[in-house]
Amino acid sequence: MPIDKLQPQIPIEISRWLGGLAEGYKTSNVLASSGNTFSVQDPGAAASLVQLEESSAVDVSKAISQARSTFNKGDWSKSSPDYRSKIMHRIADLVERDSEFLTTLEAIDTGKPRAEAAFDIDEVVMVLRYYAGWCDKVTGDTIPTEFHTLAMTLREPLGVCAAITPWNYPLPILMYKLAPAIAMGNSFVAKPSELAPLSAIYFATLCEEAGLPSGVVQLVIGAGSVGAELVHSPGLDKIAFTGSTRTGLSIMAAAAKTGTKVSMELGGKSPQVVFNSADIEKAVEGVARGIWTNAGQVCIAGSRLIVQREIKSEFLEALLSYANDLVLGHALEPRSTMGPIISHLQRDKIQVALEQAKNDGAEVQSAGSLSNPDGYFVKPTIVDGLASSHPINAEEIFGPVLSVSTFDEELEAIELANSSRYGLAAGVWSENAGQSLRVAKSIEAGTVWVNTFGIFHPTLPFGGKKASGFGRELGPAAIDAYTETKTIVQELGF
Ligand code: ADP
Repeated sequence: MPIDKLQPQIPIEISRWLGGLAEGYKTSNVLASSGNTFSVQDPGAAASLVQLEESSAVDVSKAISQARSTFNKGDWSKSSPDYRSKIMHRIADLVERDSEFLTTLEAIDTGKPRAEAAFDIDEVVMVLRYYAGWCDKVTGDTIPTEFHTLAMTLREPLGVCAAITPWNYPLPILMYKLAPAIAMGNSFVAKPSELAPLSAIYFATLCEEAGLPSGVVQLVIGAGSVGAELVHSPGLDKIAFTGSTRTGLSIMAAAAKTGTKVSMELGGKSPQVVFNSADIEKAVEGVARGIWTNAGQVCIAGSRLIVQREIKSEFLEALLSYANDLVLGHALEPRSTMGPIISHLQRDKIQVALEQAKNDGAEVQSAGSLSNPDGYFVKPTIVDGLASSHPINAEEIFGPVLSVSTFDEELEAIELANSSRYGLAAGVWSENAGQSLRVAKSIEAGTVWVNTFGIFHPTLPFGGKKASGFGRELGPAAIDAYTETKTIVQELGF
């Protein structure tokens, strides 16, 4: 169905841009010329936004070889740090200039309410500027060895870095990889998710407009098969992945064949541990936002509530009342406070998991109102009464589903929190400072938020443990992830 018929609220400039895209990519840094197309959907209206041309194997290999020759030529990799910083700030300026456009594009492509998408685009600017600031601040050491030698280290870019990114935070997650990579002089080839590739494509045009030399940032477009083509290719120095644990494992297997370095940000099943001593009002809001932001389609989603017995019923009641005020609707409908699930496939998977839980005796409660019945919506849901080993408590659902466990003692809470195979993030809610720090230290997770949840900042390293992956993005840690140390030892001839 044509988009203007179904979604009259889509601004004309977006419709025009999508119309142009359907006729072909206008920039040389998007390589997709297979002749095959796929449909990109607006999940809030269950309608197609545009048919996009997919990349072929030839496009993938061309992107890698152009990235390599750009790297070897040195227009970027050997340029001065202040030049790289200037271009990165210019890209950030252009994102700011077009932030209204990018926000709307990201909102309709992912389905998230426009206000949430605006937050994402602000984050993109912050991450770009943070790493633009790093360009001239990465130094080596001089190292004392023998008096007659001079030893030093240099920090060098890796070469050609690839990224495979998901659809839930398309542009921020791309930026966690792209910004530190190019700040350090690497060339970069990315495959955004086929479910929400539009903001990345628009971003590629801004890179060109900002004067980023050609071959530094390139995109290939399409489904998992295009990603598989990319990660199986020789000639990459690093692959950075964010997505499901299943796909992460297959990328690691591919990288093992070529010996390519990888970093993995995978699934999660983050616990939210709430003690009697918590500020209940604050905790309710934190737990609710932790699971219902982006309709629970967040790797860090606080999807396991672990609550102390005395406050359980009061807490669940307050959560349900919070959920009841949520309005599920289209991304551009101002009343919407929660968007849809990204695809009917994903929505169906969530519904099957909920049916299974019900059949196994769970108490399942949903709330909230639905302002638009067309999209792939799942209401905010709380599931209680099943063992912590049940799939609804143990597996990543990637939807607005909060499962509940109860504890009496602090040690029991820690055991429950760590009973997951995942270890991405956690929340601890307690006004007892000794308790909150004891528990935060004991939880197996890359990030623990205390009396808050989901705070991201360019300065804060982020990544997982256990089945949630390895390697850290953001903060200074990402500089290490996109550089290698060279040691030079010179005989001085004394
Ligand atoms: P989700 O199911 O949550 O979308 P995936 O891990 O399947 O998570 O997808 C994340 C990214 O990985 C997407 O860009 C997707 O196209 C890509 N992808 C999927 N399968 C593969 C694969 N076998 N090799 C490389 N990339 C893949």
